[in-house]
Amino acid sequence: MTALTVEARDGAARTGTLSTAHGMVRTPAFMPVGTHATVKSLDPDEVRACGADILLCNAYHLALRPGVDLIERAGGLHSFMGWDGPILTDSGGFQLVSLRRVATVDEDGATFVSPYDGNRLRVTPEEAVSIQARLDSDIVMCLDQPVAWGSDSAAVAAASRRTHRWAERSAMVHPGDGRLLFGICQGGFEAEARVASARAIAALDFDGVAVGGLSVGEPLATMEAMTAASVAQLPPDRPRYFMGLGTDSELLAMVGLGIDMFDCVAPTRLARSGAAMTPDGRLSLRRAAYRDDLRPLVEGCRCPACARFSRAYLRHLFVAGEILAHRLLSLHNVTHVSALMAAARAAIRAGRLGTLRAEAEARLRNRPDGGDAVDDELAPPRAQRVGASRIPGTLGSRG
Ligand SMILES: [Zn+2]
Repeated sequence: MTALTVEARDGAARTGTLSTAHGMVRTPAFMPVGTHATVKSLDPDEVRACGADILLCNAYHLALRPGVDLIERAGGLHSFMGWDGPILTDSGGFQLVSLRRVATVDEDGATFVSPYDGNRLRVTPEEAVSIQARLDSDIVMCLDQPVAWGSDSAAVAAASRRTHRWAERSAMVHPGDGRLLFGICQGGFEAEARVASARAIAALDFDGVAVGGLSVGEPLATMEAMTAASVAQLPPDRPRYFMGLGTDSELLAMVGLGIDMFDCVAPTRLARSGAAMTPDGRLSLRRAAYRDDLRPLVEGCRCPACARFSRAYLRHLFVAGEILAHRLLSLHNVTHVSALMAAARAAIRAGRLGTLRAEAEARLRNRPDGGDAVDDELAPPRAQRVGASRIPGTLGSRG
């Protein structure tokens, strides 16, 4: 039995519902990232009110801190963090790329050195599944081995083969209990390797499959070609998850290729750098142009920031280093991406996803204030320079 019910299709795109032990997820769905069991600066009720059905947490980070034992004693992640909806946990595979200076990989698994206390964490594919089950995750991700953009094809092939061997081991220890276990296909940036990897993972009969190793710096056309090559090999009745993707254009493009689930740190990371996501592209409150601008961030947006506050006020909060700026921008950005998914779902039902995409692209091309360029007339407050990504790279988007 499959957890996904497809209710309507538009070309390769589809919309439906995904059933989990903690409720339903409307697809296509965007999962706000709560790496450390919190969507930064938002409480769970606020995240729900933004329109999110499901969150992503990172098992690797949570295993290091506060530790699986504590979360298990607290009754699992849902009760520990006060979120009663579905949770997908990432296994830590991505950290093999993003933290490669402190991670080593061998055939049996991966060893991480904790950035918090220097202790070593050893994770095998079997342990990755077991850790996520103990966290009470609804959707457990296999441990995989992604490769960085620019890796040579021999390295890509070796990592893909290892990912397949790890996937076989993961499938042997499916946790059951109503939990879903997702495989991850890799294959780098060559269509043939993508096809081979997707076939190998599809053959293992996972509850869903993620397309991994993309959105790491490659051009959009490459991302589309690699995703299409992967998706064509995946079982049509299983959910498909594109790991780590953030802009409206990219999200809609991947919805069009038949992807059902997304995640990205961009909404909250952008918020901390003073940027709002809008249908016209990124709006940076660093720009002097917004100092006297009494309009809301986005006319018609139903988020608390747009309902009550002006661009001028939000810019003032940001310039003054006020925490409320981060919270309000996070509420807005998470609402924006959730609303984009809702619009995509409605468009698929109406058979007009192509029109939605064309309209979105036209707005981005014709944006009134000159594009995504961030002008640097305003130096960010010192506290925000540390650890804040000025322009959210796609690398790291898996949280
Ligand atoms: Zn808003």
